[in-house]
Amino acid sequence: MAPRTFVIGAGMAGLSCAVGLSSLGREVEVLESAPHAGGRCRSYFDDHLGRRIDNGNHLLLSGNSATLSYLSEVGADDTLAGPDRAEFAFYDLERRAGWTIRPNAGRLPWWILAPSRRVPGTSAWDYFRAARLAGAGPSETVAQVLDDGGPLYRRFWHPFALAVMNTDPKEASAALLWPVVRETLGRGETAYRPRIARVGLSESLVDPALACLRTRGVEVGFGRRVRRLERTGDRVTAIDLGERQIAVGEEDSVVLAVPAAVCASLLPDLVVPTEYRAILNVHFRHADTPPGLPSMVGLVGGVAQWLFCRQDMVSVTVSAADAVEGPPEKIASRIWAEISQVLGCGGTKMPPFRVVKEKRATFAQTPEQTRRRPPARTSWRNLVLAGDWTDTGLPATIEGAVRSGRKAAEAVSHLSDGP
Ligand SMILES: Cc1cc2nc3c(=O)[nH]c(=O)nc-3n(C[C@H](O)[C@H](O)[C@H](O)COP(=O)(O)OP(=O)(O)OC[C@H]3O[C@@H](n4cnc5c(N)ncnc54)[C@H](O)[C@@H]3O)c2cc1C
Repeated sequence: MAPRTFVIGAGMAGLSCAVGLSSLGREVEVLESAPHAGGRCRSYFDDHLGRRIDNGNHLLLSGNSATLSYLSEVGADDTLAGPDRAEFAFYDLERRAGWTIRPNAGRLPWWILAPSRRVPGTSAWDYFRAARLAGAGPSETVAQVLDDGGPLYRRFWHPFALAVMNTDPKEASAALLWPVVRETLGRGETAYRPRIARVGLSESLVDPALACLRTRGVEVGFGRRVRRLERTGDRVTAIDLGERQIAVGEEDSVVLAVPAAVCASLLPDLVVPTEYRAILNVHFRHADTPPGLPSMVGLVGGVAQWLFCRQDMVSVTVSAADAVEGPPEKIASRIWAEISQVLGCGGTKMPPFRVVKEKRATFAQTPEQTRRRPPARTSWRNLVLAGDWTDTGLPATIEGAVRSGRKAAEAVSHLSDGP
């Protein structure tokens, strides 16, 4: 029998790994505990709103190369939407003023010399401070490196870093933000055009992958919660699903692509991140957006941080939202009061809403927690890890998860070479 790989978890990391392995013609079986794939990145029908919604707004950038090649491989590269040029609209809720950052085409960022294209109140010189991220030490935070008390930090770096890291910039690792800046902002306008799923996260990132796996004969089993990994000597010998056990043969391998906390329960001797940060999304059914309003607006000076408009829904994202608590009605009305300024409908009745708080949206990307990220290879010779929380060198994002899956697929292909 050909060697098999069991991929545990069908989130972005597990799907990317299964797609990668099956493209090499390897025999793969995916075991997913939930009745659906996608994990923290998926869409579902919300009865109250009468609409399909995403568990949270997910933003990609055109420089997220691994995600784009994953989409291309599963035949979904036309499922993202976004402007032809990078442009970022912002609105200051406290000062009631908006502005748009308008980078130029081409790699050389001369736009920072043009006051009408850059953040108001900043000088071209302020932008060079970003280079300090390249030399950030492993214990330094984003705020320590970038916060000079000036408007560029408040109006750009703070919201950008908070969105990417889902951790307050005062405690987020500066060294971990650097690769994102290098691979997107540092590569010129074509690498940081915003991209969102045109219809929904599942329609872009999940369903096409499942269809691709089906055509390659990969079985994706839902409702299969792995309860224990049996280990004998230096390898995994069985996967315990409770009602039955799957024997893992001498040539077989296992990719564990589950969240860090689940990994810790299956492999208690492994060091993994232990702290998390929440992301809050409030979805409103509201069709009446003013003409010309961009589909995404960054917000500063309030609770709401990003506003997304898609069809007849407007959604707000709040990262590192652990402290935003209280009854959903109260949270929604506070956020509605803020965004109705931007939507030009101040004073109107709040439309139907849904508040979704993902308490463990990502691990807390502090220097201390970042040091706890394990590599893909483990001390069990046929067991490989994947997930946005593993040591990908990137923050916990879709791009990080997809790359971890790819890395795990490569590691599985080289398992016979030894650790
Ligand atoms: C609200 C929110 C907003 C976000 N916004 C962005 C964004 O704008 N841009 C961005 O790039 N990223 C964003 N992210 C992060 C992104 O969603 C994650 O980095 C990514 O989805 C993680 O994928 P993963 O495969 O590593 O983990 P998961 O998605 O957690 O997948 C793990 C899978 O394992 C399964 N599983 C768990 N236990 C078991 C078990 N015992 N047996 C079998 N299966 C099991 C789970 O059901 C799940 O399907 C956001 C996340 C959230 C929650």
